Amino acid sequence: MLSKRAYNFNAGPAALPLKVLERVQAEFVDFQGTGMSIMEMSHRGAVYESVHNEAQERLLSLLGNPKGYKVLFLQGGASTQFAMLPLNFLSEGQVGSYVMTGSWSDKAYKEAKLLGKAHIAASSADEKYMRLPNVESLDLPEHTAYVHMTSNETIEGTQFKQFPDTGSVPLIVDMSSDIFCKPFDVTQFGLIYAGAQKNLGPSGVTVVVAREELLASSPSNIPTMLRYSTYEKNNSLYNTPPSFAIYMVNEVLKWIQEEGGLEGIERVNQQKAALLYDRIDSSEGFYRGCVDSRDRSIMNVTFRLANEDLEKQFIKESEQAGFIGLKGHRSVGGLRASIYNAVPLENCQALAEFMDSFKQRNR
Ligand SMILES: *Cc1c(COP(=O)(O)O)cnc(C)c1O
Repeated sequence: MLSKRAYNFNAGPAALPLKVLERVQAEFVDFQGTGMSIMEMSHRGAVYESVHNEAQERLLSLLGNPKGYKVLFLQGGASTQFAMLPLNFLSEGQVGSYVMTGSWSDKAYKEAKLLGKAHIAASSADEKYMRLPNVESLDLPEHTAYVHMTSNETIEGTQFKQFPDTGSVPLIVDMSSDIFCKPFDVTQFGLIYAGAQKNLGPSGVTVVVAREELLASSPSNIPTMLRYSTYEKNNSLYNTPPSFAIYMVNEVLKWIQEEGGLEGIERVNQQKAALLYDRIDSSEGFYRGCVDSRDRSIMNVTFRLANEDLEKQFIKESEQAGFIGLKGHRSVGGLRASIYNAVPLENCQALAEFMDSFKQRNR
């Protein structure tokens, strides 16, 4: 059956692979002959538990099965991680050091300040986050408990290509909007986290991958559900997990493996991003990229037109032509095409053609 699919460039929740949606649909009502959907079964039963474990194994396998790392499934979105990090890792007299690159790192930093001492180790705030700060030599105070970075700033459209060596200080990275967009070495990080709804699945589950000893180090005087150690000790089954979302993540990971793993995914992602950035760069100023070209994200392509009226017209006409989600975040304005893993190359080609024709008609 052919489905009519929108050109979906939503920032999150975002496009999911059609193959995944169709597979899930096929087993929606009767999961593997059980006579019920996966949503209707006990999270303590063997059927669900094997899906749960499989999702963790696939995640680790895509990361090259790093020694000493564990996968947790949590709720409350990446935003709850902003608070869990200082709660778990900032003890009395310690400092959390933050690299400020945009809206999301700012939120993470503010949560840490509520709960302990937070320090700004590098920042491009005075350039309105339109480029990334130099992180080669970070300004780290004594007693730094961890360094926090945001790998991809979803709203501004910047993305780190490299990470600093923080030595014995754990590097913690919010990868919500670019996890698994390309291969990476997880062993350079103490902990990474991502809300699923951009590159991993539907909303409702947050994935954490971290060194075991970090996860085990939670203090015992914070609420049980906010301790990493609770999830670590109980295989993320201390309470009812978001079972349907985890099942979906497993299906998306399967799809990544079928697409040639992270190398295969990156190849297509680079093509998609190049298509759109080429349109911007060759438009003789009709389209203007928002961020320094060296720091551009291959997940969120942000750009502007000569004035806000023209931007409004672009959004209106793009919607009429079947493109969804091209309006920039309300805090920064402009336009944004989110081209996560599941957005097909053909959709980016269609957008590039629309950009050409819009320029022809309006320059
Ligand atoms: C979307 C996003 C978040 C917020 O995620 P929630 O799951 O809505 O809490 C945090 N960080 C980044 C980089 C994001 O893109």
